[in-house]
Amino acid sequence: MHVSSTDDSRNDRGSGDARGYGAMARAARARTALVIGGGVAGPVAALALRQAGIAATVYEAYPAAADGVGAWLGLAPNGLAALAAVGADAPVRAVGHPVPGVVMADGAGHPLTRFGGFPELPPTMTMPRERLFRALTDHAAAAGVPFAYGKRLIGAEETSGGVTAHFADGSSATADLLIGADGIRSTVRTLIDPQAPAPEYGGVLSFGGYAAADCGVEAEPGTMHFAFGRAFMGYWRGADGRLIWFAGLPVDNPPSQAEVARVPAAEWLAKLRELYAGHVPGERLLRHSGPGELMAVGRMERMPPVPHWHRGRMVLVGDAMHAPSSSSGQGASLAIESAVELARCLRDLPVHQEAFAAYEALRRPRVEAIGRSAAAVNKVKAGKSDLPVPEFPSPEQMFRPLHFHRIDWAQPVRSPAGV
Ligand SMILES: Cc1cc2nc3c(=O)[nH]c(=O)nc-3n(C[C@H](O)[C@H](O)[C@H](O)COP(=O)(O)OP(=O)(O)OC[C@H]3O[C@@H](n4cnc5c(N)ncnc54)[C@H](O)[C@@H]3O)c2cc1C
Repeated sequence: MHVSSTDDSRNDRGSGDARGYGAMARAARARTALVIGGGVAGPVAALALRQAGIAATVYEAYPAAADGVGAWLGLAPNGLAALAAVGADAPVRAVGHPVPGVVMADGAGHPLTRFGGFPELPPTMTMPRERLFRALTDHAAAAGVPFAYGKRLIGAEETSGGVTAHFADGSSATADLLIGADGIRSTVRTLIDPQAPAPEYGGVLSFGGYAAADCGVEAEPGTMHFAFGRAFMGYWRGADGRLIWFAGLPVDNPPSQAEVARVPAAEWLAKLRELYAGHVPGERLLRHSGPGELMAVGRMERMPPVPHWHRGRMVLVGDAMHAPSSSSGQGASLAIESAVELARCLRDLPVHQEAFAAYEALRRPRVEAIGRSAAAVNKVKAGKSDLPVPEFPSPEQMFRPLHFHRIDWAQPVRSPAGV
């Protein structure tokens, strides 16, 4: 892996570096971009960049679109609104199932708080991650975004005229900008800053599964249930009537993803059943789930604050710099928001360093605040905090600043000094 820069005028180091925008103005407006990663942030960034007048191509490491990647997620109203800002919400809504409400309970089945969702907002939509990936990819491709598969980025170098990405298959590509949408184990993050932090383990291994519709667990339609107690479990009723659940197994020395995959599902299920014995409704949900329906997701992780979001012609978006962990229910929504904001900044601020600085100023406070709240929930899930559940803010308090966030695509972005 390597990176070099032959143009010092472009080699600024992240936020707070306000020096020399006059000199930077000599750089021509960016017209092309390499987007590394075809998950959530990548296709949205490429689509939004295209609408901002920048021709972007997505380079994805996997040989095909990310089909078959397990686990479910919820796309919150703010994520859907960010998609709507670039006209991409309809295909995602079409593959989702609305779950606007939230009930929190203790591990004995006693409800603690109940929230019906904000009536003025569209509901959170749940969907398998792979369907979200597919909907975004198909939509972006139909809008003219080219996708190249089997392209694993291994290095990049800047020249006076642009940035060249090198891929594991020996090929390379050059453009004005390189956008790192390559997820929580981002290569681009390390190219920008070899000292960048690594993902932080949240103390539990994550699992998901399906329990039979008639398993005897009450789940109000359109409601996400969170059951705390000795162990945490979330669940909701899916469109086919089955109960979709997710759970965490506290483990101090976590196995790697490959090791998690090697353990037979029946073994994981036995461990989960042991942990959730006596938990309401965890015990019953697990009794009515088979090993064939288990999704072993692996370590629950988050990104600690990343000091440098950009350098020269390279910039990060999505989990690469602000993965808040699955506890937030916001990772995909934030990735989409950032992708849209990055494009808006590049549209309005012709000097890319200035656009990157404005982007960081707009996004850093929000994504880091959400990351901190999720880290607190992770501690509860891992049994590392005594925080009693009733001391959480009410769902309404918790969700208002998340769900009401809006990006006004038509609004011009001002330079970093005025952001
Ligand atoms: C169990 C679980 C539950 C979750 N639940 C929720 C939820 O309810 N709500 C929510 O909003 N979010 C949720 N998330 C988080 C959400 O999935 C992520 O925040 C979101 O996928 C981030 O998008 P991204 O595009 O930044 O990264 P990713 O989706 O990880 O995409 C990165 C892409 O880059 C590719 N790539 C990586 N390295 C390279 C390389 N070197 N070269 C080329 N390509 C590369 C990868 O193959 C991948 O396709 C959950 C995550 C997990 C694991």
